[in-house]
Amino acid sequence: MKTLEVHCLGTAGYHPNESRHTSCYFLPQSGVLLDAGTGIFRLPELIQTDHLDILLSHAHLDHVVGLTFLLDILYQRPVKEVRVWGQAEKLAAIQEHLFHESLFPVALPVSWNSIDEQSEWDLHGTKMSWRLQEHPGGSVAFRLEAARPDSTPSDPPAVLVYATDTLGAEDPETLQWMSGADLLMHECNFDDQNQKWAEKTGHCYLQKALQIAVQTQPQRLLLTHINPIAELQLDAEVPSLQCPIEIATDGLRVAF
Ligand SMILES: [Zn+2]
Ligand SMILES: [Zn+2]
Repeated sequence: MKTLEVHCLGTAGYHPNESRHTSCYFLPQSGVLLDAGTGIFRLPELIQTDHLDILLSHAHLDHVVGLTFLLDILYQRPVKEVRVWGQAEKLAAIQEHLFHESLFPVALPVSWNSIDEQSEWDLHGTKMSWRLQEHPGGSVAFRLEAARPDSTPSDPPAVLVYATDTLGAEDPETLQWMSGADLLMHECNFDDQNQKWAEKTGHCYLQKALQIAVQTQPQRLLLTHINPIAELQLDAEVPSLQCPIEIATDGLRVAF
């Protein structure tokens, strides 16, 4: 069976550096973007659909500043419809502040869609659900389920869970919701030496991210939102985790 793919357009947290742009991931077959950091400038040549759905985990700048690049992106590769999804208060803050006329000259050709009313949405055939996370100002994790190309209705969907900018979920209900993913994309902004900083800023450190993977047993683990000034190293073996573990890099494509 063919697979779905996610392209890592930006894998840093906070700010870009020489090798990483800020958070942005793209599923070309579904037309779904996960966050809109500076990496979004790499989008045009990858677009395969006549629609785009941009899912925002929250409104911190490293996840939304790339929305201001959309005019050029859509000029290079026009699509019929662009929908931006997120919590209503975050969308309002973006429209009021990032797109304030003193900061940006024109309105974007997109629709702003609150996810607040429902816990589950259908995005052109991709089932999306979300959960609140602990992070300064709050953030949400997304779970995506979509049929793989050439699959039959009885085949299970491909499942991706994207959890970024989070202290790390520990409650059984959220862990259950995250479980069974073909691909778990989980943030790991800090190494274990910086556990205190992780907890102070509402992020994860390596052992915490691995613990969550052990409790949710994905088929594959991709660590994201990498601290731009401290490259993360995967040195420890994790005996209770059999799946491949990778650190996301810009340009990486992951099949699931
Ligand atoms: Zn961030
Ligand atoms: Zn954040």
